Parts: sequence; structure tokens; C-alpha cells
Amino acid sequence: MTVITENRITTPEMDSCPSWCVIDHTGDHPEDVFHRGSYAAFSVPDGSAMPTLNEKAEIPRLTAHMVTPEFAEEPEAPSMVVVDCGDLWGPYAELDLEQTDEFIRQGKAFLARLEQIREQLATALKEQQS
Ligand SMILES: [Zn+2]
Repeated sequence: MTVITENRITTPEMDSCPSWCVIDHTGDHPEDVFHRGSYAAFSVPDGSAMPTLNEKAEIPRLTAHMVTPEFAEEPEAPSMVVVDCGDLWGPYAELDLEQTDEFIRQGKAFLARLEQIREQLATALKEQQS
């Protein structure tokens, strides 16, 4: 059983959830004070993660989801897109609509460059086989 010894900031009412919210606000998790949408995740294939000198193998992962803060001190807080590394308590960014557009442009440029790199890999593998 979990005992809450301090008053929570504010828990959104279930009936006030936007249609895209996927959070069960009846729990006692501190992150429940946000309305959050479902994730978009970008990662590498399973089994491809490699250990570093200091860390065990960890899959590189980037996630994004929509959030509306529901703090009592800031009832009109704007909705935003939160981008993180799949760890709610790790590094993250809060993007407005314009910044989200820029991030999407960067993602498309990344994928276009990745396709070029993929062709380099295919050529190199072909040369190594001959
Ligand atoms: Zn909600």
C-alpha cells in the first residue's frame, strides 16, 4: 500500500481529460498531473544495441508525446510536445508548434541522410564480398 504524506499539486479530473489523454489519473504517480498523449517512438532494431566502456547495452531511443500541464499555479499552461529519450526523468525538451515543425524537418533530413549512409553501407558490403 502506498501512503501519500504530502498533498499532491493537482490531479486532473478524469472527466476533464482531452480526448487524446491516455493517463490514468487515479494512481499516485507524480507524472499523473499531466494530460499525456500516446507516444511516438524512434529506435533501432532489437539486438543491435552495443555496450559502451561504462554502460551495458542500452537501445538508443527517442520518444515524443503531447502534454498539457495541469498545475494549479498555472491553469492556462499551453499544451506542448515533449521529446525525451524514453526516460520520464531524463533529458527532455518542450516544443511549441513551430519548434515541433522544425524538429520534424530535422527528422526528415536525418532520414534522408540515413538513406544515403545506408547506400554507402550496401556498396561497402558488396565490395568486401568481391
Ligand atoms: Zn488526462
